[in-house]
Amino acid sequence: MMGDRDYRKTVTSAIDAITKEVEPQVIDPNDSKTIFLHEVVHCMRRSYFNRFDRIEQENKSFGNLFGGLIRKLPYGSKIGQFSIDEINLKGQPDMIVDDVVIIFKTVPASPEIPFASDILHLNACLWIFNKSEGVLIYITDDGKESSFALIREKKMFEEVIRRVRVFSNLISDKKAPILEPSSECSGCQYYERCFIKKYEGKQFSLTELFGKRKD
Ligand code: SF4
Repeated sequence: MMGDRDYRKTVTSAIDAITKEVEPQVIDPNDSKTIFLHEVVHCMRRSYFNRFDRIEQENKSFGNLFGGLIRKLPYGSKIGQFSIDEINLKGQPDMIVDDVVIIFKTVPASPEIPFASDILHLNACLWIFNKSEGVLIYITDDGKESSFALIREKKMFEEVIRRVRVFSNLISDKKAPILEPSSECSGCQYYERCFIKKYEGKQFSLTELFGKRKD
């Protein structure tokens, strides 16, 4: 805070305003026949809470906004749809150039292999837009870029379809999906609903447990 002005609050409000513009909108939380791809390629329990008992995520990084900003540009991709019986699956990659579907992700460090949820996302976009090739592009904070190419794969999309059906049924039945423990949990705003209140976890050191080493 500098002077009387709380700049942190100003920046947070600005990021919230941009996020509202660029985030895919769930039009009707009770609409179990319209499922967005981003809801099923990550933890479905989190997506369920986002629909019915939402807590805004704190500390949104620029990475959350990057893809959304690209999609808003004139060369950004539009939303596509894929029918699964009576369910409408909606998905939106960042760009489609020369028939290649592209998704950008910002990451702290270049991954050795692409994240599973990103692969599921890109592969499903290939099916939704009836394309056969896609590229995942990871961009780090210091400007490094690593790319992974993907050819459309049926088995992976069948897994997405299975998850769409499960999520749709759970919305109809108003039942929260089961926990999906993963690395996503540590940054999830619903951590305390799934596990323990953060302040209840007592911290200890190995020295405390086993006593000080006598040299
Ligand atoms: S804490 Fe983990 S299991 Fe619970 S909603 Fe978040 S991501 Fe899902």
